Amino acid sequence: MTAPFVAANWKMHLTVAEAVGLAKGMRDGLAALTGATRVVCPPFTALAAVAAAFEGSGVGVGAQNMHPEASGAFTGEVSGAMVRDLCAYVIVGHSERRQLFGETDDFINRKVHAALGLGLTPIFCLGETLEQREAGRAAAVCREQLRRGLDGLDPDAVARVAVAYEPVWAIGTGRAATPDIAQEAMGGLRRELGELADAAADSMPLLYGGSVNPDNIASFVAEADIDGALVGGASLRADQFVAIAAAVAQAGAAS
Ligand code: PEP
Repeated sequence: MTAPFVAANWKMHLTVAEAVGLAKGMRDGLAALTGATRVVCPPFTALAAVAAAFEGSGVGVGAQNMHPEASGAFTGEVSGAMVRDLCAYVIVGHSERRQLFGETDDFINRKVHAALGLGLTPIFCLGETLEQREAGRAAAVCREQLRRGLDGLDPDAVARVAVAYEPVWAIGTGRAATPDIAQEAMGGLRRELGELADAAADSMPLLYGGSVNPDNIASFVAEADIDGALVGGASLRADQFVAIAAAVAQAGAAS
């Protein structure tokens, strides 16, 4: 493990007051874990308040989405420039955006370019559905999403992306991938990234996401190509997310 990294995705949960309460509940625990990059992604409405709650703690804040255009007639959307006012990270390509909101590889690629152009770090998500896995197409699907999502970036730009492998069948289901399955997929992604980012691929953060919890995180980060996790449900509990982050930091220190 070369780049311990853990991120919380609070999805469409929490009012501003609730989000600040949760941030305060995890602030001290996360602040102590200096060996890992720690990022919390609240809903847009709570970004400013959560950023303020984490100020001075070393914990980064991220948005869960952004529009690729800088501004314009896109009612209800939020641009990267708006996001950058408030935080340094942004999740792009989450399977819920792909599946529920029809986001294509091309649209996600435009977001990645826009985010990097603004100095934001994209947490770029990809992963196969159960149907694709059962058809033996998992590796090909992930490769395609990676290649198309990062298309047109030079190696230095690719190296500034955090990649999250999130098999769709494992997200929010309580049915995590096995560490073997995740390692196989993520080893393949690391090899692909070697072609896109040259030697820098070795130190890029590769995150596993999908029903991570305090009991299973150690088995994931023990794998060679798993540097940390993107955490949904368990990140809504301060004690659970701090425990997951501690395991990520500990695995990083041991490697
Ligand atoms: C996610 O939404 O990115 C995620 C991994 O969710 P969960 O941890 O709940 O499976």
